[in-house]
Amino acid sequence: MDDHKDFRILVIDDEAFMLKLIGKALHRLGYSQVFTCSGGQSGLDFIKSAPSPPQLVLLDLNMPQMDGIEFIRHLADGNFTGSIILISGEDERTLQSVEKLLTSSRITVLGYLVKPVKPAALKLLIERWRPFVSARQQSSIKTYSVESVSRAIHNAELVNYYQPKVQVASGEIVGVETLVRWQHPADGLIYPDRFVPLAENNNLIDELSYAIIRQALGDLGGWQLAGLSLPVSINLSMENLKNLDFADAVFELIAQAGQSAEDITLEVTESRLVQSIKVALDILTRFKLKRVNLSIDDFGTGHSSLSQLRDFPFDELKVDRGFVHGAWANKKLHAIYSASLGLARQLEMTIVAEGVEDLDDWNLLRQSGCDQAQGYFIARPMPAQDVPAWVADWEIRRRELVTQASE
Ligand code: C2E
Ligand code: CA
Ligand code: CA
Repeated sequence: MDDHKDFRILVIDDEAFMLKLIGKALHRLGYSQVFTCSGGQSGLDFIKSAPSPPQLVLLDLNMPQMDGIEFIRHLADGNFTGSIILISGEDERTLQSVEKLLTSSRITVLGYLVKPVKPAALKLLIERWRPFVSARQQSSIKTYSVESVSRAIHNAELVNYYQPKVQVASGEIVGVETLVRWQHPADGLIYPDRFVPLAENNNLIDELSYAIIRQALGDLGGWQLAGLSLPVSINLSMENLKNLDFADAVFELIAQAGQSAEDITLEVTESRLVQSIKVALDILTRFKLKRVNLSIDDFGTGHSSLSQLRDFPFDELKVDRGFVHGAWANKKLHAIYSASLGLARQLEMTIVAEGVEDLDDWNLLRQSGCDQAQGYFIARPMPAQDVPAWVADWEIRRRELVTQASE
């Protein structure tokens, strides 16, 4: 994916020196379409008159005429759908709250840079942005109808991708998480945020889940034939936990595939309010009695909370990636990450950190004694047939990682 060089980036700062410095750093990272403006108003004018608006704006918060927050308010009114990186001489805490403030608008704030801006920090943020932009450009093209999603389920257009999960201390592979994609005949690969909510809202989520579970069980069997033991985790929606027959249907699928419940983990996140705790508890408890593992997903986010931990019999806790990536350098994230770790320990649950994107993240997990890790640093989600080759590659990389860190 080298088309990132065509991404259009606008830098707004009242200091000419900063414009030059950031412009240079971006060029060095391979971006040739970099524009600069020395104030909020000229920035807005530029965006309005450009034939196609920039996908990313690097914005100085403190400017004499129009400050950054005011600028963003105008930008949001103008239907801007790109991303923003904040730059400021303010301390980190202030920037964090500005970032929070902005997440309530529709604009994506990728993060912030503290002046003096370091090229390495800029590089890190931009790399985080790139895959995001390509996923979004592709997915914002159109919305899908309920009928087309239903057809996709029945025509076997849904494909499972798998993302490995590894033991932090040894690097050993412990399993894979199933992440569904829609291989659309015309539009290419569609990510779950474009169609899973549709399925949830239109009574299709059970059928969608059965299709995914059936495929995961098949792939699990295929890997076993290749000599690989790779337990699978499957994402459920809270909507699946409304129908008392759901558990039986899943047990039936497991039995048909000749697999055992111990190799299945169900990840639950509360994407909406549970309508009936009683029904959800009934279903989850029956899974548990049959030895299916249960995981609380996206832990720490508004939807996945302490009361769920209290109410449901979870074996595993997945700390949301929002508290993992970059936690080594951010006091608040670090505090939340550590608290989650402590909670999992006391409740004797396995803790999995999601969103491990680089060596710094990985090292934090090692130092803090986290059980398992998942994220781009280890592997991106991949089709089932790519898994065996990844396993072979990882065996080599893992040894380096584990020995390096213990030196
Ligand atoms: P999730 O369960 O939290 O899955 C993790 C998401 O983070 C995945 O996005 C994965 O590709 C992405 N990810 C993994 N490692 C990293 C990393 O290091 N950095 C970053 N920035 N992202 C990472 P994906 O595949 O787009 O899935 C989004 C969500 O869709 C999932 O979030 C899950 O809630 C839902 N989903 C996926 N498959 C299913 C499914 O079969 N059923 C249901 N109900 N929901 C599903
Ligand atoms: Ca998950
Ligand atoms: Ca998650």
